[in-house]
Amino acid sequence: MSILAEIVNAVKEVVDVARSTAQGMSVTLSHIPTRKETVCYPDEPVNIYRRFRGEHFLDVNEDGKEKCVSCFLCAAACPADAIYIEGAEDSRPYAERISQDHRYAKVYQIDYGRCILCGFCVDACPTDAINHGHNFEWAVYTPGELVKDKKYLLANKWREPDVTPNENQRHLAQLQKQDKLNIVLK
Ligand code: SF4
Ligand code: SF4
Repeated sequence: MSILAEIVNAVKEVVDVARSTAQGMSVTLSHIPTRKETVCYPDEPVNIYRRFRGEHFLDVNEDGKEKCVSCFLCAAACPADAIYIEGAEDSRPYAERISQDHRYAKVYQIDYGRCILCGFCVDACPTDAINHGHNFEWAVYTPGELVKDKKYLLANKWREPDVTPNENQRHLAQLQKQDKLNIVLK
């Protein structure tokens, strides 16, 4: 290769590098004047989309009866084998029953060490008993603490920012020992 060709190649390389750098910097600089999304959570509330799939809650109906009828469909749909249920019969009259049906979940657990938040359990549930809430704070010290039981999941609903228990649901809401989630749903 002649010296002239080498010089031309070197100049082309310099121009290419300068162009790439200018393109990269233009993206960086274009973001500087825009509004920042950084918030000082948990001192300030953080915005969460309603469609966000966080930790689940087990729901109750207006009478405070558990909606779960222990049909096992959620556990069957779960690809991560994260749900453990033990069902039981409750033949008492409606007013005295735990659930809205004769069957209820004596044990209901979700292992968040396994759960991948796919939402299949929510889709499979015929009674809308299992739902995704918006809690994203799951840091714990041991894997066993990632297994959440029925009492925890039933109380979890009342951490959501836009729900208020009625008279029949208040005793369940009082089981919740944690604060309301410091979030704004968008
Ligand atoms: S969200 Fe998916 S992985 Fe998690 S418990 Fe439900 S079905 Fe299983
Ligand atoms: S949460 Fe729904 S799908 Fe799962 S056992 Fe209860 S009623 Fe059935």
